Amino acid sequence: MTFNPGGLPVKYFSPSTIEEAVELLSSGPNRRVFAGATDVVPQMRSGRPAPDGLIDLKGIERLISVTDTGSMWVIGAAAPTVRLTSNPAFVASFPGLAEASGLIGSDQVQSRSSLGGNLCNSSPAADSVPALFANRARAVIASGAGTRTIAVQDVPTGPGRTSLAPGEFIIEFEIDRPTTNSGDAYFRLTPRTEMDIAVVGAGARVDLDGAGTISSATLALGAVAPTVVRVPDAEAALLGAALTNGAPSDDVLAAVAAAASAACNPIDDKRGTIKYRRHVAGVLARRSILAAIARASAA
Ligand SMILES: Cc1cc2nc3c(=O)[nH]c(=O)nc-3n(C[C@H](O)[C@H](O)[C@H](O)COP(=O)(O)OP(=O)(O)OC[C@H]3O[C@@H](n4cnc5c(N)ncnc54)[C@H](O)[C@@H]3O)c2cc1C
Repeated sequence: MTFNPGGLPVKYFSPSTIEEAVELLSSGPNRRVFAGATDVVPQMRSGRPAPDGLIDLKGIERLISVTDTGSMWVIGAAAPTVRLTSNPAFVASFPGLAEASGLIGSDQVQSRSSLGGNLCNSSPAADSVPALFANRARAVIASGAGTRTIAVQDVPTGPGRTSLAPGEFIIEFEIDRPTTNSGDAYFRLTPRTEMDIAVVGAGARVDLDGAGTISSATLALGAVAPTVVRVPDAEAALLGAALTNGAPSDDVLAAVAAAASAACNPIDDKRGTIKYRRHVAGVLARRSILAAIARASAA
C-alpha cells in the first residue's frame, strides 16, 4: 500500500509482530517506524525528505498496551497518550507524567501521539520527556540483534537525533513503581494556554523516607538546551533535605533554582530570550519540586 502525505508516494506497512517490524525496518534503504504520525506527517508535508517506507507500530498489541505489573508500569512506545491520561491508576501513580502527556497538542493529537514518538522526534521542548527523565524511565529497544534496555535519558542526542542505531526502535518504556512515598510533577510555560511549544518545561520526582526526609530527587528541564537536561546540582541540594511545613528550607530551594538556571544552555527565539529562559527555568524548577514534594507527602 502507498500513501502520499508530502506529495511523494510512500510505502506503508502495518506489521502485527515485533519480529515482522524488525524485518521490515531492515528491508529497505530508508525506512522509518511511526506511531501517531503527528510529527512524521507534518514534517513530510513541510518538505523534509520522505522515507522509502513507513512502518506503522500501532498494529502490534504489545506496543499499544499500558500495564501495571505490580513492580513497574510498562507503557507501549506507540500507545496513544490518551491511554495514560484516561487511566485513573496510572494518573494516581505518576500524575506528573500524566500531566505532561495531557499537554501534548489537543484531544485529537493525544488520540494519536505516543511517548515513543515524543521521545524519538527528539525535540528539546517535547513535553513528556522531562517527566520520563524525572521518573528514571527505561526504554526497551528492539532490533535484529534482539532487545536491549537503556535509560530514556540516553536516547536523545540533539534536536531530531537519537542514539538508536539503524534498524532499532523502541518497544516500550518501563517505570519502576515507587517503593516509598513518592510524587512527580510537570510544569511548562507557554505563551498561549494550549497548543503551543514550551518556553521551558520542568519535570520533577521526589521520594521521601519514613522520617519525611528527601531520599532521592530528580529534576529535568526541557526547551533550555539541545536535549532535555537533568540538573544534578539541584538533585544533590535536595538529597537528605528535611521538610518543615511540607517544604525544604529557603536555602535549599534557592540552590535548586540557581542550579536549574545554571544548567540551561538555551537559544534566543521568538518565544523567549536566553535570560528569560534561564530565569523561568529556576522558577519552574522550584515549583515542580514543591508540587512533587506535596504529592509525595500525601501519598
Ligand atoms: C497540532 C500539534 C500540536 C502539538 N503539540 C505538542 C505539544 O504541546 N507538546 C509536545 O511535546 N509535542 C506536540 N506535538 C508534537 C507531537 O504530537 C508529539 O511529539 C507526539 O508525541 C509524537 O508522537 P507520534 O506517535 O505522533 O510520533 P510520530 O510522528 O509517529 O513519530 C515521531 C518520530 O519518532 C520516531 N518514532 C516513533 N515511534 C518510535 C519508536 N517506537 N521507536 C523509534 N522511533 C520512533 C518516528 O520515526 C519519527 O521520527 C504537536 C503536534 C501537532 C501536530
